[in-house]
Amino acid sequence: MTTSPTILTGMRVNSEMTLGNFLGALLPMVRLANTHSSDSHVNIFVPDLHSIIDTVDGELRQNLVKSLKYYLAAGLEINQNVHFYRQSRVPAHSELCWILNCVATMGELNRMTQYKDKSEGKESVGVGIFDYPVLMAADILLYDAVYIPVGEDQFQHIELTRRLAERFNHRFGETFVIPAKPEDQIKFMQVGDGIRIRDLQNPEKKMSKSNHAENSKIMLSDAPSVAAKKIMSATTDSVGKIQYDMFNQPGISNLLQIEALVNNMPLQDVISTWSGEARYGDLKQKVASSVQTFLENFQSHLAEISDEQIFDLLATGETYANKVANIKLHAVQTAFHLR
Ligand code: ATP
Ligand code: MG
Repeated sequence: MTTSPTILTGMRVNSEMTLGNFLGALLPMVRLANTHSSDSHVNIFVPDLHSIIDTVDGELRQNLVKSLKYYLAAGLEINQNVHFYRQSRVPAHSELCWILNCVATMGELNRMTQYKDKSEGKESVGVGIFDYPVLMAADILLYDAVYIPVGEDQFQHIELTRRLAERFNHRFGETFVIPAKPEDQIKFMQVGDGIRIRDLQNPEKKMSKSNHAENSKIMLSDAPSVAAKKIMSATTDSVGKIQYDMFNQPGISNLLQIEALVNNMPLQDVISTWSGEARYGDLKQKVASSVQTFLENFQSHLAEISDEQIFDLLATGETYANKVANIKLHAVQTAFHLR
């Protein structure tokens, strides 16, 4: 069924997204999807079973629709190879997760740094947070996905997925396609070192949505004029010369980076335009106005997309996903003499 290769991405449901999330994760993914969807399947799924690990959110359903709208507003082109689906609507994910639980070991899950970080010092830790890398392996292996564009924080989980698939194939015969190694994933994504938009107030750090300081981050839902003010109040430095130097002048470099990305211009061009200038205020004015225009356009695209449009895409996507996933699940069940 899946004769074309599959690229798979799951973006956590976020009702709110920063400009950093957009420029560093969503936009590169949309570009990648647009580049490859003529000859590859592009599976864009909402990991809603992952979303319930630490909180039960009454807004989940609505937020999930909003997250998918972001892809369209960011320019995702829909064709017959692009599939939207919810993890919870494809029961094979949970089924395969259970079977892979019987292949994975406590030791290898215990080594996951994300689990270690999230459970450290806590008296009570849910099983969900411990086991979620196995569900992630199921998310990937059901579709023979080779490329899963994820951040560095997920590389260890990709390695685990590869290991579980190899172990399974070794014990039960060739069943799973082994996903590409993290270093090959990076090459495929062609995003270089990865983009890290900095915190506007504290540019040594990256911009994060969980930072409570409103001026540190630009949200996609910010009023465009408010976002412009945040740029105007961004922390810079006292060097007095515009240069692209993330180490010594992270604030200024961050502004140059943002200016390039929101205008879809090569960073080098923006650097050449501004290098050597002394007036930080002029640069801030320019970036503020670019960000304002960018948000105005983005928000007006977003408003044009209806919930119905998303639910229609989910209906088609979930039919496709169930078909593909069940074929793989049945093969796995057969290997385990469950069928
Ligand atoms: P949190 O503060 O809750 O960790 P976050 O803003 O770091 O939120 P995540 O949900 O952790 O966002 O990450 C979503 C995606 O956005 C990931 O692919 C991550 O690599 C990317 N991302 C996060 N922050 C930035 C940033 N400042 N610049 C570029 N990409 C980013
Ligand atoms: Mg984060």
